Formats: sequence, C-alpha cells, structure tokens
Amino acid sequence: MSLLLQNGRVVDPANGLDAVQDVLLVEGRVERVGRRLEAPAGTEVLDVTGKVVCPGFIDVHVHLREPGYEYKETVATGTRAAAAGGFTAVACMANTHPVNDNGAVTDYILAKAKVEGVVRVYPIGAVTRGLKGEELAELAELAEAGCVAFSDDGRCVMNAGLYRRALEYTLPFGVPVVSHAEDTTLCHGWAMNEGVVSTEVGLPGAPAAAEDVMVARDILLAELTGAHVHIAHLSTAGAVRLVREGKSRGVRVTAEVTPHHLVLTEEAVRTYDPNTKMAPPLRTKRDTEALLEALADGTIDCIATDHAPHALAEKEGEFDRAAFGVVGLETAVSVLLDRVVGPGLLSLATLVARLSRDPARLFGLPGGSLAPGAPADVTVLDLDRRVTIEPARFRSKSRNTPFASWQLTGAPALTIVAGGVVRP
Ligand SMILES: [Zn+2]
Repeated sequence: MSLLLQNGRVVDPANGLDAVQDVLLVEGRVERVGRRLEAPAGTEVLDVTGKVVCPGFIDVHVHLREPGYEYKETVATGTRAAAAGGFTAVACMANTHPVNDNGAVTDYILAKAKVEGVVRVYPIGAVTRGLKGEELAELAELAEAGCVAFSDDGRCVMNAGLYRRALEYTLPFGVPVVSHAEDTTLCHGWAMNEGVVSTEVGLPGAPAAAEDVMVARDILLAELTGAHVHIAHLSTAGAVRLVREGKSRGVRVTAEVTPHHLVLTEEAVRTYDPNTKMAPPLRTKRDTEALLEALADGTIDCIATDHAPHALAEKEGEFDRAAFGVVGLETAVSVLLDRVVGPGLLSLATLVARLSRDPARLFGLPGGSLAPGAPADVTVLDLDRRVTIEPARFRSKSRNTPFASWQLTGAPALTIVAGGVVRP
C-alpha cells in the first residue's frame, strides 16, 4: 500500500523543513520527501496543494474512559474523535474502572485499541494502586505490558516519600512520571481559580499556589532521583517560572499545556457554564500570557488536550456540583490555529513541533518526524477552512466543550495513520 501526497507545504520541524514538497508513504513508513516524486505503480495520489502536511499529531493526555466508563467514551469513539481532530496517536490516562494499575488492564486497553481503535493508543499506567496514593502499583508489570508513562492523573500523589519511591523505581524503565500537580490541602472543595472573580461570582476557589507548591516539590524530587517528571496541564505563571528555573539547572522536568488554558481565562466562568470547569481551573490573563511565552520559548514542551469526556447529566446543573473536565480532541487544532497561530502568538512551525516532534521525544514514542523510515503518520491541515464548533457532530460520545459555536479559521483536513487515510 502506498500513498503520495502531492504539492503540499510540508512543515516538519524535526527535520527543519518548511517547503512545498511531495510526501511518499510506502507500507506504513515514510519513503521519501522531495520535489516531484515518482509514484510506484498502484500508488494512491492525493493532491494537497495549498494545504499543510505535518508529522502526525500526538496527544499525550487523553481520557478514553474504557474500561468502566463506556457511557462517557470508549476506545472506539475516543480514537475516532482523535482522528477527526487531526491526531494520529493518543496516550490514555489510568483513571479507568478498574484502574490501569496492573498488566491485565493494560493488555485489555491495547487489545481494544488493536481491534476498535483507528489511531495509535499508548496506555499510561497508574503510579499507585487504585489511584489511592497509598502503595505503588505494579510498575514493572505495567512497563512490560506497554505503558509509556506513569501517572495518577486526576489525583495528586500527596505523599512525597511514596512519590520519591515511584520515581526511583521507574527510573530504569526510562519513561516519564506525569504529575497532576495539585496540593489538595490548599484547595478543598474548589470549583474555580481563587481570586477576584471567584469572590464576585461566589464560588469556592483553588489558589495558583496549590499548583505551584506541588510543581516545586516534583521538580525537587526529579532532581533528587534523576527521574523524568512531566508536569501535566501546567496552568500558572508561577509554575512556568519554576519549570524554567528547574530546566536551567539541568533537572529532568518537562511540561504540557492545554488549548483551553492558553485561550480562556477565569472570566469565562462568569457565565456559570459547567463546561468552563476543569482541573486545574482556568486562570488569569497574566497566566495565559506566561503560558504562551513559555510554549514559544520551549519552557513548556508540548500541547496536550486533557480530553476528559463526561455525560451530559454530569455537566449540567449547578456549577460547583458539575464534574471537572472538558473534551478537547476535536477542537484543539482549530482553536490553536485561529487563536494562537492566527494572531501571531506562536509560529505555525512551533505549533507543529509542540504537537508532534516534542511529545514523541518526551514520551519516547514513534513518529513526530517525516524522515525516511518514520511511521507513515501524517496530519494535513487546511489553514483557510472556516469551521463552527458543533458539539452535536462530535465523534466523541461526550459534548462537554467550552468552545461550542465558536467560529474558527483553520482545521485538520486529513489524518493518516500507518499510511492509510482514517475516515472517522
Ligand atoms: Zn490532571
């Protein structure tokens, strides 16, 4: 099976390329990138003139919800949402039911992905048994079964001694430990960011310090152990400062940011729309400015959606009772192209790097490059297409987006996995 993408603008930051070229994919691998390539007999040819051809986008923070919460999402629907959003691979978090804290659950997810998934799926194993924060999960078994990282995401491992042991134990596996940095003793029963807005709207707040304290702890533990700590959904200016300082001292700390934390602030919560409620909460304009600057200069390494599907009943009614989290796979690319690249806050090449080359590098995943021999995973963008976000048309089972009816310019046009176009 071979596929030739003709005449697109190839943006491949891993190889320093931004030029109009052809991309030839043969038997699941990138064969060649160059001008006026000859297609072997039987090759499918797609003219992508005017479009942008990138290494497949990789989302390292997704909740596929299976096993256990199939009413919110499944491997089948979540990977279709990923493909519709331009992602060729996702890493899925361990807070399923049962929790992915042993090899049998990892095997189950991988088996589901093989049969029902339409993009690549990389499971993340739990740090602690049942995400309870009390004893370590079966870490060696999880790594052996194919987990690409460890995380109790959704919860913070509050016990620093236990977290230190987890970092030491996972060090030989060479995979990152992903921190959901939230000191729960500083933010009990919160619904939004603590500040002027939370006071005005009368909702309990979580201070930025609840995140900053834990990011500081985790950087110190990474330094102590030599392990790679990856900060999930970093959201504060203070945490940016800490990561920047840690990196400058050579600590193995990396970080991701979500599209919603880049383009929305706590002001959005004034609507009391439960789809503006997530953990960590939407912060202030000062924070979003710091996040954008950090994403541009590489202090923040990658963009991840934290796609967190919830059923309608869990996201309606009173704000402080609604579930935390929003879906993101099907809106990320358009939101980022329109609101971040459009106004010149980030170059297109940097955006592509933060969605492909960089997550691949951090998590040791195949892809992120269009070099010959790389997996034939490709995302094609249409920078001119105008879209309106319509949750009713999502491939995801869930509709909990803060971007409903936003009108945006720029969208994914084609998602290619292992050389085949995915039609979600
Ligand atoms: Zn989290």
